[in-house]
Amino acid sequence: MCYLILLKTSLSQFLGAKHVQEEATSMDTISHATFETERCILGRLPHGKDLIRAIEDLCIENSIQTGVFFVIGAVISVTLGSYDQNQQVYVTFKKEEPLEIVNCTGNVSLKDGKVAVHAHAVLADMNGQTIGGHIFSETIVYAAEIYLRELLGKPLEREYDSITGLSLWKL
Ligand code: ZN
Repeated sequence: MCYLILLKTSLSQFLGAKHVQEEATSMDTISHATFETERCILGRLPHGKDLIRAIEDLCIENSIQTGVFFVIGAVISVTLGSYDQNQQVYVTFKKEEPLEIVNCTGNVSLKDGKVAVHAHAVLADMNGQTIGGHIFSETIVYAAEIYLRELLGKPLEREYDSITGLSLWKL
């Protein structure tokens, strides 16, 4: 309900009231949970360590089961992927060259009772050319800074979704 109100408020600044009404009633409801924001953590990810593993370890060390994060910095190599929606498999590729992390955004939840980090990133080479996608291990950190925000509530768990073939949030 909260989302519908927000949508209506923001859209009403640009669209007529009649159009907004149609938009709000025709959209599917958003399954969601509510959390309280808790600790903010700023950290430096270790040189030479896998980026995903480093974030998982930071969460485990601080008993964080649900959260969101941003990372900027640079990597020595990266493994990126995109989800092939027809085959329902990730297609991955590896780049072994220095790249700037223009932005890496992600979240933390639980999968099979363990901390699971989901991260996407846009990275740039020396010429400013960018690549992006879902980040996999191995992605080796050169230097990186993380802003991690803990969210407190019922821990968010992932479960297999038969429609997409992905592990999605159980909401
Ligand atoms: Zn992803």
